[in-house]
This record gives sequence, structure tokens and C-alpha cells, in this order.
Amino acid sequence: MEETRRCTRCAAEKPLSAFYKDRTARDGRRPSCAECHRSANAACYARHQAKRNQYDRGRSEQRRDYQRGYRWPDPVKWSTANESRSLVDTGGSVAGRRLIPQR
Ligand SMILES: [Zn+2]
Repeated sequence: MEETRRCTRCAAEKPLSAFYKDRTARDGRRPSCAECHRSANAACYARHQAKRNQYDRGRSEQRRDYQRGYRWPDPVKWSTANESRSLVDTGGSVAGRRLIPQR
């Protein structure tokens, strides 16, 4: 007689062969039967499909907004910011102590 187990979802007693194998499970089988697993998967897929569609739609708009709002750093501000930083950075270094201008 084949070994049976009770499905944790539909609570039906089914032969072990009705449960998917799962190497990570303690006894090597999923706790719910294949039938429940399939329906749960389908439900999950449908649920997420709606979310995926919503997400993709929202994302293209988000991207557009993001790209519109994006600016390269102002080159003038950027160089002056770097200049003052390099003075501070070399202040304690050997090159800085010799007081040789970097440029
Ligand atoms: Zn089941």
C-alpha cells in the first residue's frame, strides 16, 4: 500500500505521488498536494499578472518623469566644487605642504 499524507490545503488524504517533490522539505515532498499547488500557483500568477501590468504601465510614466527631471551636474559648479575639495584634500599631504599649486 502506497504511503499517503494529508494535504495542508485541501486536507485530503492522498498518495505521496500526488505531492510534488521538494528537496528543501524535511520529508522531500511539498506539504500541499499537486492539485492545490497548481491552483495556488495559478491564483498567484493571476494576482501578480494584474500587478505586473499595473507596474509596467506606471513604470513607463515614471521613467519619463525621471528622465525629464534629470540634469547633468552644472559643469561650472562641478569644477569649482572639485577645486576647493582638492585644496582641502592636499592640505595635509606632502604635495600640499610644499605649497605647489596643482595647476
Ligand atoms: Zn490539496
